[in-house]
Amino acid sequence: MSDGVFVMIISVASGKGGTGKTTVATNLAFALESDVQLLDCDVEEPNAHLFIRPTIEDVKTITTPVPEVDEEKCSLCGKCAEICQFKAIIVIGEIVLPFHELCHSCGGCREVCPEKAITETGRELGVIERGYRNGLELVHGRLRIGEAMSPPLIREVRHYTRPDRLTIIDAPPGTSCPVIAAMNGASFVLMVTEPTPFGLHDLKLAVEAVKVLGIPCGLVINRSDIGDGKVKAYAEEEGLPVLMEIPFDQRIAEAYSRGEMVVEVMPEWKDRFLDLFRRIEEIAR
Ligand code: SF4
Ligand code: SF4
Repeated sequence: MSDGVFVMIISVASGKGGTGKTTVATNLAFALESDVQLLDCDVEEPNAHLFIRPTIEDVKTITTPVPEVDEEKCSLCGKCAEICQFKAIIVIGEIVLPFHELCHSCGGCREVCPEKAITETGRELGVIERGYRNGLELVHGRLRIGEAMSPPLIREVRHYTRPDRLTIIDAPPGTSCPVIAAMNGASFVLMVTEPTPFGLHDLKLAVEAVKVLGIPCGLVINRSDIGDGKVKAYAEEEGLPVLMEIPFDQRIAEAYSRGEMVVEVMPEWKDRFLDLFRRIEEIAR
């Protein structure tokens, strides 16, 4: 990476899966070479590591606090069940029953318990792994199988953001809470889409979410030579800059299927990704 690079957080998102989001996030990070962090926040299915192939140096189990009730102290007053918005703790007959999988760890039940009968235990959310390949740091979360809530784990991955590094986030696909958790606070959102009716539909939803967050946004159109021109027309209407177009290329598809980086297999793409970065930098500044 050149000296004096603007330290910022670029969140790479897409309204739907399969648009090439991870290809863009990993190749952008890899093209910049050093002093870059890639945070894979697609915690249900992290796959950036398959391309970056880092040496993992540390693994941390992440838990979230959930209530545990001391039956000896409990007077069955029901205040904990009343305050819980998620029906994650209920009083049935002579017992108070917490449902840890439904709990959002707000701590409300513990606060209101007049008998101090509620303490906290941990529910495992998943693990965070951190590794390196040369100057590139990769951090990803893996949600525990069966765990329904990914935003708390995404927020934990984002705690690894270093203020002295350019941070690239591979956001989960979609437009709901997990994506918001991966875009919130970013300096720029790079939206990866494809020029098809499905691509446009999901792009519109994702762009609405970015607007609410008030973050500057630009597009990468993948497989840009298939489909129709409606994505470009929409981008023009919305004033969204198209920062890169990736035409369909058998060699890119093959590199992806072998877990190889496009910028390594086709070095001419390195300059294109560096150019993409410069354009993002200009807008984010
Ligand atoms: S911590 Fe919050 S969400 Fe969890 S059981 Fe208590 S009140 Fe409900
Ligand atoms: S608030 Fe405390 S005392 Fe009341 S039912 Fe819940 S655990 Fe028992």
